Amino acid sequence: MLAPYAVSDAESRGRRYPESSPRYRGEFQRDRDRIVHCSAFRRLEYKTQVFVNHEGDMFRTRLTHSIEVAQIGRSIARVLGINEDLVEAVALAHDLGHTPFGHAGQDALNDCMRDYGGFEHNLQSLRVVDELEQRYAEFPGLNLTFETREGILKHCALHHAGELGELGTRFLHQQQPSLEAQVANVADEIAYNNHDVDDGLRAGLITLEQLDEITLFDEHHRQVRELFPQLNGRRVSHEIVRRMINHLVVDLVETSQARLAEYDPVDVSAVRACSGPLIGFSDGMKEKSLQLKRFLRKNMYRHYRVHRMTAKARRIIHALFDEFMNDPALLPDEARINLWEGEQEGGSSGRARAVADYIAGMTDRFAIAEYERLFNPHIT
Ligand code: MG
Repeated sequence: MLAPYAVSDAESRGRRYPESSPRYRGEFQRDRDRIVHCSAFRRLEYKTQVFVNHEGDMFRTRLTHSIEVAQIGRSIARVLGINEDLVEAVALAHDLGHTPFGHAGQDALNDCMRDYGGFEHNLQSLRVVDELEQRYAEFPGLNLTFETREGILKHCALHHAGELGELGTRFLHQQQPSLEAQVANVADEIAYNNHDVDDGLRAGLITLEQLDEITLFDEHHRQVRELFPQLNGRRVSHEIVRRMINHLVVDLVETSQARLAEYDPVDVSAVRACSGPLIGFSDGMKEKSLQLKRFLRKNMYRHYRVHRMTAKARRIIHALFDEFMNDPALLPDEARINLWEGEQEGGSSGRARAVADYIAGMTDRFAIAEYERLFNPHIT
């Protein structure tokens, strides 16, 4: 069923701790199942990208975002004849390492960790599945396949790549990840650009009129108006957004099919050896997508209402980090034990890493509550 350039169970580079094959599932189904059952996955429900979780039940959370990425990724994978289960596993796991409060939280934690090796959410997602989840008797983490871990590690600074063994080599030698990883990566981009438009409209941060400056939006807005002149309210924006997603997916599939036909990779190794990704948009669509991204950055992510929230998030993360670093006795038992162990192994960097792990694992609401418990004298 799978194309020759797809990742298959038989050719997997396997798990760090060898296990016998599952009986009625594939290897990547097992990865997906382990991800769905892990605690970091459940916490995605109360973590956000742009909005803080308590701002409203209508907005995307990292959990619904991950499910949308899996949906888009699987649709693309099926047409291309590549491994849907692997795409789904990577999509569901790709944000497991995210801090509370979205990008603001990640930037703040990276600032706090500047002298201790920094903080990268991609590396943290890998850390969650490799080490931090404690569920199985025979190994730490979830013991996922090489291919799922490769897909989770989307980016990585070169100085970290050297420490990652086999997983880091592609960054050092400029190789590509599997097509499945490439699809999950682009599906992420398609999902967040479009749902940020949808959430931004709902929150009143941006308007249809403003969005008409954007070619991709304007094209579909006109189309919807022509087809349904009487339509109003939220159905207008939904009709536009679903058309944009479809347009992006169709362009991606057709462009990628053409590149696959041209390069004709005989197997996954040939995919990895390519000089660039084979999954991608046409030049025209890349330009349109970039225009939308720029618009969102300028009008939504930097909107004063969003900025107030991100400024608060930054203060909370910095305060929590400093407080726990200076007085580890404030940490709950498990986190404190991790900190002592980290310190024994890696000195102050190990200590900071344990604090970062504790903070990164928090949901938005837990981080706010923890801040209150530490700094508000009226709350215990
Ligand atoms: Mg994402």
